[in-house]
Amino acid sequence: MKLRNLLLLGPPGVGKGTQSARLAARLGVPHVSTGELLRAAVAAGTPLGRKAKAFMERGELVSDAIVIGVATERLSRPDAKSGFVLDGFPRTLAQADALDVELERLGTKLDGCLSLLADEAVLIERLLGRAGIEGRADDNEGTIRKRMRVYQEQTEPLVARYRRAGSLREVDGVGTIEAVERRIQEALAA
Ligand code: AMP
Repeated sequence: MKLRNLLLLGPPGVGKGTQSARLAARLGVPHVSTGELLRAAVAAGTPLGRKAKAFMERGELVSDAIVIGVATERLSRPDAKSGFVLDGFPRTLAQADALDVELERLGTKLDGCLSLLADEAVLIERLLGRAGIEGRADDNEGTIRKRMRVYQEQTEPLVARYRRAGSLREVDGVGTIEAVERRIQEALAA
């Protein structure tokens, strides 16, 4: 089966963004990151961006209604017909349900879900390192710890959901970008 509609799950700092972008480029499909779409809306000062900004700065989730709107709009654009790599969406069970509904409406479905794994201490160190490089407003220690907790409480249950659905492959996210990329390729080929 050709894998073209993919989803990457994983805690903050595990390399979802980097790996999703690489995977999407390799597959020739759009990389759909709700975090990037939201950061663009914040930078542009749109009404949606103004609503999302404070939640993002605190490391909290933006409301399901807003994020589901952003994601479904992106997925319904023509270029996503060829496939997509979803990054950072869904993050709650309600979002996962909404994704199923949207994909059904579009006459398609998810082909696979990759879960990237890493130790929390490694992740916090990585994020603190990234703070100096990318200058993201939400990469400071307090917010990082908050995002970890939010991930464990609200997003981690999705791993079990996709495991039950039979579409989950787990990948060790510790190592160089190239090493993790290779593991992802192997997991997809298996
Ligand atoms: P990310 O770039 O995926 O780490 O997302 C950065 C921030 O954007 C998160 O900490 C949330 O505040 C917000 N965000 C991105 N995607 C979602 C989502 N699916 N649901 C709720 N909030 C999100």
